[in-house]
Amino acid sequence: MAFQSPRGTEDWLPTTARAWEEFLTRAWRIFGLYGYEPIEVPTFEQKDLFVRGLGEDTDAASKEIFTVYSVGALDTLKKGGHLKASQTLALRPEGTASVVRAIAQHNLVPQGGAPAKLFYAGPMFRAERPQKGRLREFHQLGVECLGATDPSADAEMIIMCMRFFEELGIPREEMTLLINSMGDDACRPAYTEKVRAYMVEHKDELCEDCQRRIETNPLRSFDCKNPQCYEVMEGAPRFSDNLCEPCAERFEAVKGYLDAAGISYVVDPRLVRGFDYYTGTVFEVQVNGESAGLGAQSAIGGGGRYDKLMAEIGGPDVTGLGFALGFERIMLVLEAFGIQLDPGAVRPIYVACVDESVRAKAFGILQQLRDTGIPAVGDTQGRSLKSQLKVAGKSNARAAIIVGPDELAAGKVTLRDMDTHEQEDVTLEDVVARAASLYY
Ligand code: AMP
Repeated sequence: MAFQSPRGTEDWLPTTARAWEEFLTRAWRIFGLYGYEPIEVPTFEQKDLFVRGLGEDTDAASKEIFTVYSVGALDTLKKGGHLKASQTLALRPEGTASVVRAIAQHNLVPQGGAPAKLFYAGPMFRAERPQKGRLREFHQLGVECLGATDPSADAEMIIMCMRFFEELGIPREEMTLLINSMGDDACRPAYTEKVRAYMVEHKDELCEDCQRRIETNPLRSFDCKNPQCYEVMEGAPRFSDNLCEPCAERFEAVKGYLDAAGISYVVDPRLVRGFDYYTGTVFEVQVNGESAGLGAQSAIGGGGRYDKLMAEIGGPDVTGLGFALGFERIMLVLEAFGIQLDPGAVRPIYVACVDESVRAKAFGILQQLRDTGIPAVGDTQGRSLKSQLKVAGKSNARAAIIVGPDELAAGKVTLRDMDTHEQEDVTLEDVVARAASLYY
């Protein structure tokens, strides 16, 4: 075959495509309980939106963005010209920045108005090195709540996220909820300086990227995949010991709400989440990586508060919080736990022709079934009756209606229950109703 799907992308055959639909159905059900509505945003945006939102020195913004140029823009570049910011586009690496942009653009949180509560789902793109559970095109489901300031909103967000995972069937005891606070403008700068000073002391033990991060973004080093950096950062000052009073109080309040809801959690002082836009509460849900067949990739979702993001991208000063879940990784987890999200294909009624003389009549019965809302398929390849019934079996048909010239002359057809193999003659007037009774 000359063409294959690009590296890091996946085709979804019907089983996965149906699972995605089921995933969305359950999302509607759970998020709807908390007052959320759906939103769709473009798959590409002005690149600056993501860079500003995620932070210059995050992997997602610096190395992993797929930049998109129109042919005209590329020509301008080739000729040594400059592009306007609006001409440099990027495939979205995540959904939050776009949703926040849309909320600002359409003024969905008017001053004094109720919070905007929205969820989205769709493909995201990151130019990562593909491996199991890490794709270049993957799918996220995300939730954003803009304008809710109270700590109970943080707790509600976390509870809703856990509830959704349970709705998918992931046992609660297989999940670990990690939480942390990343502070705010009052305490984060001083804390960052402390971490920076610590890293300067240990500079020689850090990888090249982390050495650079000393200047650009020290907190990112908590996330570094290098085992030695991990060791070094274990000894770094902890955010939990350096929060300002309001942030500490807030974090205590969030924990209090979680305790009251019976949600267990682990406070992980290293949890800084991959993007710069987070402030205050952050959280991540992990599953036991090895038992879930995920290898190193054990995070199945996470999020937190991002009170500065809206203002950062030029919108009003409105607080925000949200989370995002990766569909593909969740599917790996479900598979490892033996959970089937795919509700299975519908079982059609198969309409078979004994010979060519009845084809037009069979065609009519097929239409009648579908008009009644019953899935129905028939032969379009001129096969023998025997092989049509084989196809009916393979397509998991609930029943077959066999249309033969002799029966037809008597105003009848044969109805065969494909599960019990029982057959009966049914009049043409009754056949659709009889098929329906088998079906429902
Ligand atoms: P993030 O947006 O990086 O916080 O990731 C949120 C969730 O999206 C993760 O927990 C993963 O489940 C999923 N995810 C992130 N990056 C990828 C990727 N490259 N391939 C597949 N899933 C991903």
